Amino acid sequence: MIHHQHDIVIIGAGLAGLRAALETSQVADTAVLSKVFPTRSHSGAAQGGIAASLANASDDSWEVHMFDTVKGSDYLGDQDAIEILVKEAPATVIEFEHMGVPFSRNPDGTIAQRRFGGHSRPRACYAADYTGHVLLHTLYEQCIKHGVNFYSEFYVVSLIMNKGNCCGVVALDIIGGELHIFHSKAVMFATGGYGRAYKITSNAHANTGDGLSIVYRIGIPIEDMEFVQFHPTGLYQHGILVTEGARGEGGYLLNRDGERFMKRYAPEKMELAPRDLTARAEQTEINEGRGIDGKDYILIDLRHLGAEKIMERLPQIHDLALSFVGVDCIKEPVPIQPTAHYSMGGIPTNKHGQVVIDKDNTPVKGLYAAGECACVSVHGANRLGTNSQLEASLFGRRTGKTMAEFLQREEGFTPLPEDAAKPAEEEIAAILGNEGKESVAQIREELQVSMMDNCGIFRDEKKLQKELEIIKGLQERYKHIHIDDKGKRCNTDLIDALELGHLLDFVEVIVAGALNRTESRGSHYRTDYPKRDDENWLKHTLAYRTDKGPRFDYKKVVITRYQPTERKY
Ligand SMILES: Cc1cc2nc3c(=O)[nH]c(=O)nc-3n(C[C@H](O)[C@H](O)[C@H](O)COP(=O)(O)OP(=O)(O)OC[C@H]3O[C@@H](n4cnc5c(N)ncnc54)[C@H](O)[C@@H]3O)c2cc1C
Repeated sequence: MIHHQHDIVIIGAGLAGLRAALETSQVADTAVLSKVFPTRSHSGAAQGGIAASLANASDDSWEVHMFDTVKGSDYLGDQDAIEILVKEAPATVIEFEHMGVPFSRNPDGTIAQRRFGGHSRPRACYAADYTGHVLLHTLYEQCIKHGVNFYSEFYVVSLIMNKGNCCGVVALDIIGGELHIFHSKAVMFATGGYGRAYKITSNAHANTGDGLSIVYRIGIPIEDMEFVQFHPTGLYQHGILVTEGARGEGGYLLNRDGERFMKRYAPEKMELAPRDLTARAEQTEINEGRGIDGKDYILIDLRHLGAEKIMERLPQIHDLALSFVGVDCIKEPVPIQPTAHYSMGGIPTNKHGQVVIDKDNTPVKGLYAAGECACVSVHGANRLGTNSQLEASLFGRRTGKTMAEFLQREEGFTPLPEDAAKPAEEEIAAILGNEGKESVAQIREELQVSMMDNCGIFRDEKKLQKELEIIKGLQERYKHIHIDDKGKRCNTDLIDALELGHLLDFVEVIVAGALNRTESRGSHYRTDYPKRDDENWLKHTLAYRTDKGPRFDYKKVVITRYQPTERKY
């Protein structure tokens, strides 16, 4: 066992983890662990932009940004946290500009801004359609400059707790195959989303939601997991994202009859309605036989934008469509379908990034989270595009600040418990030693396909019950897996098996939570309960692990400025 000691250990090198590390590295010895090389984190795949009411393209204000976000969240977002998000957004973007992020520009030199779904003003700041790439690379450079210690290709397996305090993590060095103990005063989760629970997803292979299951297993609840965002435009059969910026620039959605069908669903906002509504509209067209050639896809048409604008503002989309579906979007419309994209729920935190353990927001000492794995909650039941890179960066910085302050009060390290690494050692030994007949890839495939079918855009009691049974069956089969590679170095079979174990734990919470919530709100749509029910369900779900499956508790939604009203676009 190899031991390390750092004041702060951050798991995840996306925007949330790196922005926090940049903050803490100025005052404390900071380590960032990442299962992929830092700049390969999914943040680098973000395309369309980061929101801020800079008012460079029209009038705008934080108040308008706030109302759009609250309404977009279907009133489930916590308004105190949303107020922080929108008020600090301009400073967050300007800070990135000063770090050297090459944003696209207006002729007068100000940062260019475009339209995005659910935002009533053009407020997405962008760098062509590579926004996440440039933000992530710039932050990585800054972290290197400030002496952050990186442990790349280290897979975190478990948390170390002592008397309720978090005091480190156990991680597997993927290349060397050894287990390492990281002893720290504070641990932060910035482990990103879990799109890989679904077959069609825009998410990277690494997005398996490990962090959620790691905390869930030790008795910390996970919040609002039933809210899964489907993005309206994934490349057909691949799920790879066509940014909402494509519609922000003026792209149309067309059905079999060449009709811009959004006029029947959101006459005012058309293609720029929020994602929950637009994805449902597409799926309805497909389900009612108006997909292209009667199949399960529709089209996005960009031809009228012209070659020059496409190549200047959407070069990556042009490239991806050509490479993956063989379509030149300058000349032809592109086949698309909804794709699992974003997790609104996650590890519950307060506004300062501290992980909380109950409905009274009691913090866990030494444990923090931010970014997509966390639920603070600024997105409520449905996230608006471009608010996520903002959230990850801004709450990443805030969480870094909170950890730095904590270190000033805290004298020493909480001692490690005996057997700190035991759960991780046992989990790995069990996988390597298992001689069952079940295949990891087969179980994963069945999970992803069935989640698409039974816990996707449209849900009902029957399908959700069925999916719960499927998951129980897959969890049982997981106990009898077999992996071929029993070696130490670079054992990707082992990583796949660990990831599948994590997937199988938190998907149960998504499905049970969706079954439990007998209403429709934001991304969670029950065909058997099609109305929002504020009287019974204007509350956050907290799910605790028990042997019999998740136990639910509820937390109040913070409402400050905007009372819930009917949501129309
Ligand atoms: C294709 C795509 C396009 C998007 N476009 C936009 C956009 O234009 N605007 C916008 O606002 N949002 C966009 N989003 C969403 C946004 O990019 C993400 O929500 C956000 O970047 C997440 O950042 P993060 O730091 O929380 O996590 P990530 O960037 O996903 O990073 C997660 C990190 O955790 C590490 N990790 C995970 N598990 C472990 C483990 N067990 N051990 C060690 N390390 C681990 C990974 O290695 C990685 O470094 C997009 C998302 C996708 C998928």
